[in-house]
Amino acid sequence: MKKRISPRIANGHPWIFGNEIDKLDTEAQPGDIVDVFTNDKSFVGKGYFNPQSQIVVRLLTRNKNDQVNEEFFHRRLLECWEYRKKLGYVENCRLVFGEADGMPQLIIDKFNDYFVIQTLALGIDKWKPALVKAIEKIFRPKGIYERNDVPVRELEGLPQQKGFLSAPFDTKIIINENGLRFHVDLENGQKTGYFLDQRDNRRAIEHIVKDAEVLGAFTYTGTFEIHAAYYGARSVLGLDISESAVQQANRNAALNGLENICRFETANAFDVLKQWSKEGKQYDVVMLDPPAFTKSRETIQKAITGYKEINLRGMKLVKPGGFLVTSSCTNLVNPQLFKEIIAKAAKDARREIRQVLFQAQAADHPIIWGLENTQYLKFLIIQVL
Ligand code: SAH
Repeated sequence: MKKRISPRIANGHPWIFGNEIDKLDTEAQPGDIVDVFTNDKSFVGKGYFNPQSQIVVRLLTRNKNDQVNEEFFHRRLLECWEYRKKLGYVENCRLVFGEADGMPQLIIDKFNDYFVIQTLALGIDKWKPALVKAIEKIFRPKGIYERNDVPVRELEGLPQQKGFLSAPFDTKIIINENGLRFHVDLENGQKTGYFLDQRDNRRAIEHIVKDAEVLGAFTYTGTFEIHAAYYGARSVLGLDISESAVQQANRNAALNGLENICRFETANAFDVLKQWSKEGKQYDVVMLDPPAFTKSRETIQKAITGYKEINLRGMKLVKPGGFLVTSSCTNLVNPQLFKEIIAKAAKDARREIRQVLFQAQAADHPIIWGLENTQYLKFLIIQVL
């Protein structure tokens, strides 16, 4: 590495950018495991190398004695599993959360006996067979599926692809969560098929939805809304722009015998919420969980505007004394900024608010301080006075 680099790497950050590198071993091939040294030749760590990416090395270990081989990944997966078991995330969990588990750009979700993998950097993509072997050894799974249909792979020179990494199986499965059941489509669902990160947050609505009229927007397959019906809401309406998500959400309501309380419709939430607030509609609880509005710093303003807009519209639909349940999964919108956006929305809506609860993603997605992209989910409940 160059002589003068930011203290970021010494402080534990695993990424080494191209402009931090002084000299490269000319023998190193893209995807190889390389050793990294400071300018005065002290060992920093080992990681995967990709000269085509802006992040030229992603560190896997800072231990000189570690041999990066099949056994290494088997051991790492076992450690990940031990952590999840300790915290009670057993049946379904994010088994590997990339950088936060010391395996940059690797995601593995466990849905009971099925596993979904994403290898989003060339260096980890090469170890896919070793990862599959380790999963087979540790879990004896019924199936393993690859969801590498993710655009970010192209920055690494990798193709977008999906398919079986085990013998083929029926990718439409059912999972249990908080006493409810949900259809999950591992092949065609969004991301890995299901959003495990909101599991504990879905439970957090238990008391506020009792006897309530609830509106949910950006529902995907209806998890929050079905929880609301289960926890005693009088009626629940959910909206999503994706027709297939809405169909699946209605099937999920029926799967839990809640189809008389909970129904889903296809709609653009931005338009409908605006229209309904003009008409003076009111709900006891409004829930919002939009997709990430941006992935790059250049368009951060667009994300801020989007969050302000949708939360303003949501708040206007809440009866005095009711609740707004609102999430943001945009990495670049940090918790402080998110609160500021909500405060501005409240000001424009001319509503007073108070914070009821503010938390992050479930603990099977641990947060590394100083590694911003590991703290990505903001989940906020406010009372709208
Ligand atoms: N709450 C869900 C996750 C929501 S993901 C859960 O816990 O599983 C975000 C959802 O927003 C996606 O399903 C996407 O289809 C939907 N979406 C995106 N833009 C939208 C819009 N303008 N109006 C309504 N839904 C939208």
